[in-house]
Amino acid sequence: MLSKKIQAALAGSSAIRAMFVEGKELAAKVGVDNVFDYSLGNPATPAPDSIKQVAADLLEKEDPLVLHGYMSNSGYEDVREAVAQNLNSRFGTDFTCKNIIMTVGAAGGINIVFKALLDPGDEVIVFAPFFGEYRNYAANFDAAVVAVAPDYNTFQPDLDAFEAAFTEKTKAVLINTPNNPTGVIYSDETMNGIADILRRKEAEYKKDIYLISDEPYRELVYDGAKENFLTKYYHNTIVGYSFSKSLSLPGERIGYIAVPNEASDSQDLLAGLEVANRILGFVNAPSLIQKVVAGCINETTNLDFYDKNRKDLYEGLTRLGFTCIKPQGAFYLWVKSPEEDEAKFVSEAKKYNLVLVKGSAFGCSGYVRLAYCIPNEKINRSLEAFAKLAAKYRLLENSGGEHTGV
Ligand code: PLP
Repeated sequence: MLSKKIQAALAGSSAIRAMFVEGKELAAKVGVDNVFDYSLGNPATPAPDSIKQVAADLLEKEDPLVLHGYMSNSGYEDVREAVAQNLNSRFGTDFTCKNIIMTVGAAGGINIVFKALLDPGDEVIVFAPFFGEYRNYAANFDAAVVAVAPDYNTFQPDLDAFEAAFTEKTKAVLINTPNNPTGVIYSDETMNGIADILRRKEAEYKKDIYLISDEPYRELVYDGAKENFLTKYYHNTIVGYSFSKSLSLPGERIGYIAVPNEASDSQDLLAGLEVANRILGFVNAPSLIQKVVAGCINETTNLDFYDKNRKDLYEGLTRLGFTCIKPQGAFYLWVKSPEEDEAKFVSEAKKYNLVLVKGSAFGCSGYVRLAYCIPNEKINRSLEAFAKLAAKYRLLENSGGEHTGV
């Protein structure tokens, strides 16, 4: 009865969601307080208070026919203008409302970009490890994801491997920095290298190749790192943004796409995205929350909350002998599995009520991801369970007691 595509999607069902379900089952058995669920990137710090106030004001004062009505498939013009001006003031861009399309989160945004660009058989290069849903998004349009292995010391992309990944069928490159699942921010050097290769490949294949920047974690950066905006590196860059993490609004499904004027065929591209929003059935991004984020456009989430979790977890696990990549952004910790098959390590961890996600879900086996967007007291209590897990693998004995953070 089911279509072949849905059968395939069901068979390859998200490992993140599967662990989330396992975490819930575990909680039913041992009590929710005793489960340390690091599976899902669901913010645990609430949306700023201004969200509530702006929403209440809008409901009180705006014309309901406007507030809840249909609009252009690109979104409300005043909202798009607010987004454009916010980006201009922060990143020196020259956007107007015409460069912005409001979307149903980052997921809706990537899907409309893919719909607008991809023909069956086209290839999209991604950098491993990557958000596993990218595979499903490409499959929606009968396109394929081509994964490029990282430099395993730094988890920056390996640029030689990137250059080797291009074929006649390459239509776009999808990039995510700060990165889910590693927390790594791609350096200026990496970005310039990627841009150089893209320019060379455009010349070699005599066609446009777009860089799609998936930026739900743009503002979640630590240790004084600067927020980055990738259009400055490469002319054919399309930016996808989401308010899911930066304002703790994942269920509201709100984000945007920005297409700079310097991108090839930018007007056609914007027209294509607008129609894609309609014909994929999104029609337009949810109306009330569009107006709310426009009213809170200068707000960000509680970064101190995540920063404290980041430090406590990274330092705690490193001290126990785990090899961890020090996160520079987002809210994920990427940890080397102490045994080759990380699925076995994930099962072992579950015995101590620790719910982790295996790296193969992100196209990179031998590692696990911990989403540290959970209450801080849970992080600190979980370290006792991690200590038992570390003892089981004799981590400190094997490393001679050395700290193994990278
Ligand atoms: N891209 C990345 C890298 C993500 O981590 C996520 C969500 O976790 C998404 C896209 C989807 O975000 P949204 O909830 O805005 O659709």
